[in-house]
Amino acid sequence: MNTHNHNFSEFMSDLPREVDHEVAGDIEKESVFVSPFIERIHVSEDGKSARVVVRPGADLEETQEKAKRFLAVMVRQVTGFEIKVFVDTKRKDQGPYYVGVNDELVKRGWMHDYGKGQVAYSGPVLKLAKLINDKAGELYQAAFNAKDAHFPAMIDADTLHKCGYFDSHPNAVTFVGNVIEDFDAIEEFRRANSCSEGALMPHQDHIHIDGMCLNPAACFPCYPTLSGQSFDEGRCYTWLGRVFRYESRNINGLDRLYEFNVRELVFVGDEDYVRSVRAKALPVVEQLASFMDIDCQVQTATDPFFATVSAAKKFWQASQEVKNEIKIPALGNDGSVKQLACGSINLHGNFFGKRFGFTCKNGEPAQTGCVGLGIERWVLAAFTQHGFDEARWPDAVRNVIFG
Ligand code: AMP
Ligand code: ZN
Repeated sequence: MNTHNHNFSEFMSDLPREVDHEVAGDIEKESVFVSPFIERIHVSEDGKSARVVVRPGADLEETQEKAKRFLAVMVRQVTGFEIKVFVDTKRKDQGPYYVGVNDELVKRGWMHDYGKGQVAYSGPVLKLAKLINDKAGELYQAAFNAKDAHFPAMIDADTLHKCGYFDSHPNAVTFVGNVIEDFDAIEEFRRANSCSEGALMPHQDHIHIDGMCLNPAACFPCYPTLSGQSFDEGRCYTWLGRVFRYESRNINGLDRLYEFNVRELVFVGDEDYVRSVRAKALPVVEQLASFMDIDCQVQTATDPFFATVSAAKKFWQASQEVKNEIKIPALGNDGSVKQLACGSINLHGNFFGKRFGFTCKNGEPAQTGCVGLGIERWVLAAFTQHGFDEARWPDAVRNVIFG
């Protein structure tokens, strides 16, 4: 479906407060979670009004009211915090950025897009994804003596709840459902599908959601394993995590997937240790960007929280400067340059230490921090910046991925 479908209708809504481009972008992105009848909300160039695109069958009054409430909470976001830049690498490759990487990767048979935010890849894309992951792992080992780990892709709701995820990103959660343990319900499901053309889902009453979820942030599954431990010395762990975020209609190629991979680094210890690892992570990111020969910046940032809590949580995050993002320029579908968030560097204070009961010196709750690198976004950014002419890639990368 697209917004040019003639069955859509539209209405305009004045914003209670004028917004800048940053808030306008957040409004447009989060608008897919407002109502099943709202296709999308677009903010006007001057930031003073919104155009709401409505799907057929909507109760107009109810939809207008919902859009108004959403806009009222979103315009409260405070912006204009000074953006501090900590890393700024420039590539040596002089060639232009490549427009349409996703399509080209599919055309070459190096990527298969299933259409619902999942991709399969092989050949140079797989080799590049592996190389980025391995290189980051090596750098973490060398800089922090990081221990390798592995965690499951599913996580239970109690852990997510403890991590505060339902409070900040309730829209992004995916629950795992099963057919209830009932002979007749299972047989009904089996029989319905034995002769149907497409898959038929079980009756709503026969689906049982037992509190298992698909993990939405790489670091969460490690915290239950730290419970009861004391970290007199700081420690780092690293692994490749499988991450799932329900992005609704915002999914798009390698930029915004439902299922993606994150090379994670978690550091645990006292405040000095955690802050020192965060500081040392900056030159590590710089090394990775130089290895890939890409333009890249690390700067202060905030998370895309759910609308009703966005203003307060973003304000807190920005004022404490606890989140930095690795921004790598790439091109949007229309060819304009966008800053793709390819990773984040986060400080959590003693939040997880308190919730999961692990300590540092003196028995105080330990502090934690993490670095998460979005592997598929690094792949997209690298192909955008070097294109498909092998000669433009740095030797060390070319030899591995095209060799
Ligand atoms: P976060 O924990 O939200 O900072 O996410 C860590 C990294 O995961 C981000 O910096 C992105 O590179 C990557 N990422 C987040 N959401 C997506 C997505 N929907 N598709 C692909 N990569 C993503
Ligand atoms: Zn994390």
